[in-house]
Amino acid sequence: MVKSGDRMLLLKPNCECCDRDLPAETALAMICSFECTFCSDCAAKHFAGICPNCSGELTRRPARPAAKLSGFPAATARFVKAHKACGARAGMDAGSASL
Ligand SMILES: [Zn+2]
Ligand SMILES: [Zn+2]
Repeated sequence: MVKSGDRMLLLKPNCECCDRDLPAETALAMICSFECTFCSDCAAKHFAGICPNCSGELTRRPARPAAKLSGFPAATARFVKAHKACGARAGMDAGSASL
């Protein structure tokens, strides 16, 4: 039983760089200690395993078992931010990153 107010890992629903969907059960999500969340493609190709926000290590996000998601749902607010490394990608409009 988890008391209200207990903090659980924030499972962001998308990659902060390319906006790809990253469902709670995916094995393709990478996360830093501040819960900046990226897909494994961006983490490897654009950021070399280092979080562009905090320079921390990106590691694979543990999947949350589907049976736990009803009581402990993933976050729903999508978050996309333009990073220097993202800016090299074609089609990325830095002006559209604000929420
Ligand atoms: Zn991505
Ligand atoms: Zn970070």
